[in-house]
Amino acid sequence: MRTLTAKAGNVLIGAGNPIVVQTMCNTHTSDVDATVAQCVRLYEAGSEMIRITVPGPADVECVKSIKSRLKELGINVPIVADIHFSSQTAIMVAPFVEKVRINPGNFHRDHNEARKQFARLIEVCRENGTAIRIGVNHGSLGDYITNLYGNTPEAMAKAALEWLKMCEDADFHNVVVSLKSSNTIVMVEAYRKLMAAMKEKGVIYPLHVGVTEAGNGDSGRIKSCVGISTLLSEGIGDTVRVSLTEDPEDELPAARYLAARYGHKIVSSMTSISLQGRKAVAVYDAPSRETLLLDVACDFGKRLLDKTLDELELTGTYVDDSGDKISIQESGLGAYLVDELMQAARRRFYKPEYVACPGCGRTMYDLQKAFEEVKSRTSHLKNTVIAVMGCIVNGPGEMADADWGYVGEGNHKVTIYKGKTPVLKHIQDTEAVDRLVELIEKDQ
Ligand code: SF4
Repeated sequence: MRTLTAKAGNVLIGAGNPIVVQTMCNTHTSDVDATVAQCVRLYEAGSEMIRITVPGPADVECVKSIKSRLKELGINVPIVADIHFSSQTAIMVAPFVEKVRINPGNFHRDHNEARKQFARLIEVCRENGTAIRIGVNHGSLGDYITNLYGNTPEAMAKAALEWLKMCEDADFHNVVVSLKSSNTIVMVEAYRKLMAAMKEKGVIYPLHVGVTEAGNGDSGRIKSCVGISTLLSEGIGDTVRVSLTEDPEDELPAARYLAARYGHKIVSSMTSISLQGRKAVAVYDAPSRETLLLDVACDFGKRLLDKTLDELELTGTYVDDSGDKISIQESGLGAYLVDELMQAARRRFYKPEYVACPGCGRTMYDLQKAFEEVKSRTSHLKNTVIAVMGCIVNGPGEMADADWGYVGEGNHKVTIYKGKTPVLKHIQDTEAVDRLVELIEKDQ
């Protein structure tokens, strides 16, 4: 078995190297000052790799400026160019960054042309020592692959294998693969299938793991930890991103926790566990609410996803912000965390399922505010999947299996989707949530 390492600048990914923590800027790349400032904050907060969006050729000069400004500041954190819909931009930016992320589903509209452009990208990356991430997303697999395998975890793994084969045929091995979905079951199954296929072929490529469009707050963190920890506990995953609809700085504590826990540097605050059939009663002595939340998600995510456990009860204490020890059960936190965990593992839904992208340089409106508003106005609507996406270019394609979509167009206008179909276009943002709620209620 050959286990490969990818190299992005001074960072090694895979083959037993420490798990690499990364995040992504949500600034406009054309705003060089803001992007440099955010990169500095992310680097100082522990991001070991930083992705920035590169929407088109005009942004390549900005990327060069960002890189040289960071270098002047003595910051050599690898920069990853995030590419959608423009294979030419990938080829143009590759000499100036440490890694290029492409999405096979939208690299080029024509599959044959996509293969030719990818061959060109590989040559540029080879010449410049640039790594490539083959970043497959469940929501944007593209017609070529879904016509063959449907919109399935198998299709995600097959898409990655096809693009890996192109790398292998070109004798290019500086590659990382990701297979993201906002559905934890789909995401875990896709990575497991890919790992099994790589083992069968005898070559293991490094994997970037994450739950995409996980949302925000406790739900986003728990969902991310359920999916990512399940894989890391099986030795699947070499670099992680906890993708939240919040400022990217806020993603890093959970990502660092996962890297430390599965790098065997920290352990759970669970002090005991008793099993009664398929129910577990776990006792915690947690140093904070946040640690408790992450510990619980990692301790039980895999067992719930794999259905080796059906019920869970959490007891013990955690320390609140004032330093007081609080009873997990009496405060109601235990029952709430179990509800969140059951939903993240898709065992039981106690509220709508939200899919929300983290936003990036393509976002043209206040995504975080809109998502909070949508959540607060729709929390009573059960058995519904509602997506809130940051851009009209990529958002609709990435909404995966959402029943409803709220997609900002910029200029304070919103398009509302039912499934993949736009049903209301160019709605003023001040009335968009009302219209969305009306439509959902009418449909129920
Ligand atoms: S869907 Fe969200 S994260 Fe993806 S490109 Fe658009 S704004 Fe960026």
